Amino acid sequence: MSSDLLRKIPSVDELLRGGEISALAALLPTAVASGIVRKAVDELRAELLSGGGGEESLNALAGTIEARFRSLLSPSLVRVVNASGTVLHTNLGRALLPQAALEALNLAATGPLNLEFDLGHGSRGERDSRAEELIVALTSAEAACVVNNNAAAVLIALNTLAEDKEVVISRGELVEIGGSFRLPEIIEKSGCVLKEVGTTNRTHPRDYSEAITEVTAILFKAHTSNYKVTGFTAEVPLKELVAIGHDSGLPVVEDLGSGSLVDLSVYGLKKEPVVGERIAAGVDVVTFSADKLLGGPQAGIIAGKKEFVDRIRRNPLKRALRVDKLTLSALEATLRLYLNPKGLAKALPTIRHLSRPLDELEVTATAAADLLKGRLGSGYSVLPRRGESIVGSGSLPGHTIPTWVLEITHGSTSPEKIFRLFLDGATPVLGRVSKDKFILDIRTIDRIEDLLPF
Ligand SMILES: *Cc1c(COP(=O)(O)O)cnc(C)c1O
Repeated sequence: MSSDLLRKIPSVDELLRGGEISALAALLPTAVASGIVRKAVDELRAELLSGGGGEESLNALAGTIEARFRSLLSPSLVRVVNASGTVLHTNLGRALLPQAALEALNLAATGPLNLEFDLGHGSRGERDSRAEELIVALTSAEAACVVNNNAAAVLIALNTLAEDKEVVISRGELVEIGGSFRLPEIIEKSGCVLKEVGTTNRTHPRDYSEAITEVTAILFKAHTSNYKVTGFTAEVPLKELVAIGHDSGLPVVEDLGSGSLVDLSVYGLKKEPVVGERIAAGVDVVTFSADKLLGGPQAGIIAGKKEFVDRIRRNPLKRALRVDKLTLSALEATLRLYLNPKGLAKALPTIRHLSRPLDELEVTATAAADLLKGRLGSGYSVLPRRGESIVGSGSLPGHTIPTWVLEITHGSTSPEKIFRLFLDGATPVLGRVSKDKFILDIRTIDRIEDLLPF
């Protein structure tokens, strides 16, 4: 049975001559096209030999090859409309860049620039120096440098300051972010030894001081950015931790996670740790992401005392974790916007989306509902109503922001099907299903036309 089917598998050449396949193959280098066909044939043969598949696998062969050609020929990263209610959506690429960053990116991408060249001295310069100047000005840190992301920032800070030594951290702060960043694992990969102190819900000053021995290198604090311990809890405030560390001559390092450069309560949001305030509290080194609340490109920022930042900069890992000219250009342009705090809510998409007033959202939701009603046709109900957005990306855990949403229902179509319908549009629209209703959050929608799935 299977040998009959095996004999029926067309040859690579035959397949390449087939109508649709040959039209698509003509758009590709011969070696690439025949490689794809050969791989599909080999896979089918292996499947049949192992007793799997059958006639239907054989019949699907041409379709499989065409789909692989098409997938290769069209961009796979496409625009998605974020109506999910999560403002900084990690799976959708987190912060949207401000216009100023786009202009800087364009400049950096299309011509040479003074990335590592000091125009004043006419000689080699430091690639982080412009970003550093801005970070120092905005946070009052003595020094700063930039790496690939916050995970890299934590890794290099630990490796530089505590390799082969102990890192003391509260059990209540051993965070996991997004499944792939687990603090205990990063500590181990940095070559350091984790020394857990306290309990999940309560850690006291004496827990830290009693853990300090001659093998202790740093005291570490992590912002528990995606969960909240509530009830009978105690944590040691940063200022006190700094005093304990400095009494023993140990630096204190803090992973701030999101780390904001401005006090978000100005925009009616809950306050996240502000980098400058942590520096003022005496922390030696802080690390934070550039593409979370800061609203810039993916990067990790390390700021703090010059002595420690200089050591981190000299770590050979810095070269492996360095950022490229595109990131640095976009980051510099984003940071520069913070020099005019009053203009932030307008110029920086992340702050703009987080701070949109409810009455504006209501007007937009009402207009969007009318537009969608006209397009979706009969049977659909589109209802503007109050809802809740979240910040996302491990920022402001447990905190929701009042918003306006569209609740879309249909007499005979499940909310999951409607979710799918919006995702399958020419430009996928990502909503969410909540309490058995399909929901589109208006907060992150700049043009209501974007919500039309077709
Ligand atoms: C988000 C986060 C990280 C990881 O940052 P990336 O920039 O995604 O690498 C690390 N620690 C904390 C506390 C975070 O919130």
